[in-house]
Amino acid sequence: MLYTSTRGKCAVSAAQAIVNGIAADGGLYVPETFPTFTKEDFDRFSAMDYPARAAFVLNKFMDDFSVEELTEYARKAYSRFDGEPAPLCKLQDGSFMLELWHGPTLAFKDMALTLLPYLITAARKKTGAKDKTLILVATSGDTGKAALEGFKDVEDTEIIVFFPDQGVSKMQRLQMVTQTGSNVHVAAIKGNFDDAQSAVKAIFTGSDCIKAIKEKGYSLSSANSINWGRLAPQIVYYISAYADLVESGEIEYGDKVNFTVPSGNFGNILAAYYAKKMGLPVGRLICASNVNNVLTDFFNEGRYDIDREFFKTKSPSMDILISSNLERLLFEMSGRDEKFVARKMAELKENKVYSVDKKKVDACGFAAGFADEDETRETTFNFFELNDYALDPHTAVAAAVYSDYLAGTGDETPCVIVSTASPYKFPQDVYFALTDDYEEDPFKAAVKLFEYTALELPQSIEKLKTSPVLHPDVVGKEDIFDAVIKFITKE
Ligand SMILES: *Cc1c(COP(=O)(O)O)cnc(C)c1O
Repeated sequence: MLYTSTRGKCAVSAAQAIVNGIAADGGLYVPETFPTFTKEDFDRFSAMDYPARAAFVLNKFMDDFSVEELTEYARKAYSRFDGEPAPLCKLQDGSFMLELWHGPTLAFKDMALTLLPYLITAARKKTGAKDKTLILVATSGDTGKAALEGFKDVEDTEIIVFFPDQGVSKMQRLQMVTQTGSNVHVAAIKGNFDDAQSAVKAIFTGSDCIKAIKEKGYSLSSANSINWGRLAPQIVYYISAYADLVESGEIEYGDKVNFTVPSGNFGNILAAYYAKKMGLPVGRLICASNVNNVLTDFFNEGRYDIDREFFKTKSPSMDILISSNLERLLFEMSGRDEKFVARKMAELKENKVYSVDKKKVDACGFAAGFADEDETRETTFNFFELNDYALDPHTAVAAAVYSDYLAGTGDETPCVIVSTASPYKFPQDVYFALTDDYEEDPFKAAVKLFEYTALELPQSIEKLKTSPVLHPDVVGKEDIFDAVIKFITKE
């Protein structure tokens, strides 16, 4: 199977798409056609465990990797999870939680970032890459830690993560600055996430930067969800959840299921859309946002407008205005018209807004809503009262939006809410939502949360308490490139 770009024609292998990260024309790689998922596939699939399911789905998109090698990578990746990688949990109202946070860093980013290093390493071999790989990450919190854990001590790679000094939770910061590994580098930047993101993007597209990095023996790659190797593993858990629902007798094969997904960069929910395109019986995809509700407006009005105030919320991983994966949806929505996508992306850059035909948006089958900070906190409280289940703030946004959706539509299709982080990643805020008591110290808050909810306290949180800070650097936003060069210069 070959991959083309959303902004121009090309044809590269999956391995090449994964090594490159982003197409030369600035577009994102997409498969030339979507493989299908038939009833016969499904019957084989349902008897498999999660790593085998992952290998089965990935092989349909990456036929330059064998099922055997994909199985080996998936086994290694998901052995780092605490129990089942993607368990479903039934709620009082008959809907389901798909918990994607049982990996090493307690957020759904682990579902792909434990696997991506194996894919990149193998893809480098398949494409005959000679340079070492430099993974450069700008993070608002969760991607950074998951990428560090995934790539630490991986041969021939070096990873550098930049996070906004004031823009991540205390727990997220501690997770990153205590990271061990011989090839990892982490620095806070004096600026916000957009500054970090812009600086990193400038390095990816700056020929002088690329040249200087090459002289040090490296070529760049991305661990963000623009990379196909990050997106493809996310398709698996939607199909797997559907199989589990059939297996447990909750639905019959062919019944439709809705998914509600807390969204930021639009990578998670796009994977659900791709599963649907493969033939999975999906009803509505409900896109949930916080007050940075640019996606809500897009789905309800057909207008993508980033010329608006940016809010810092308690769900920081969704504080984002430019959802890069929406580009991949535009590509499908327009009937795979790369000129259309290139034009819309240029409009966005120039005017901070673009519009598309609302009918075409509607035809994609999304619904969308947002929840503000008060509604999110109330939902966390009510949800715990009703289900005895503690939500992290991102998942609480999704639960709030789903409840609004139900009230507005009466849609009785079974729904899976995608749960993207452990509540222990945001213990102060979750504990406050449940009890009205704010404990500033994240470790004390985690213990209180444990005492209140009896939800198992992950060992990684305990460990963090005594881990030494190894990465104290704070760099100015103008000095990010210099920091990169310093990090990869071995004396
Ligand atoms: C990254 C993240 C999201 C948003 O996912 P996208 O793929 O960027 O839409 C939601 N919740 C949590 C906890 C995250 O880390």
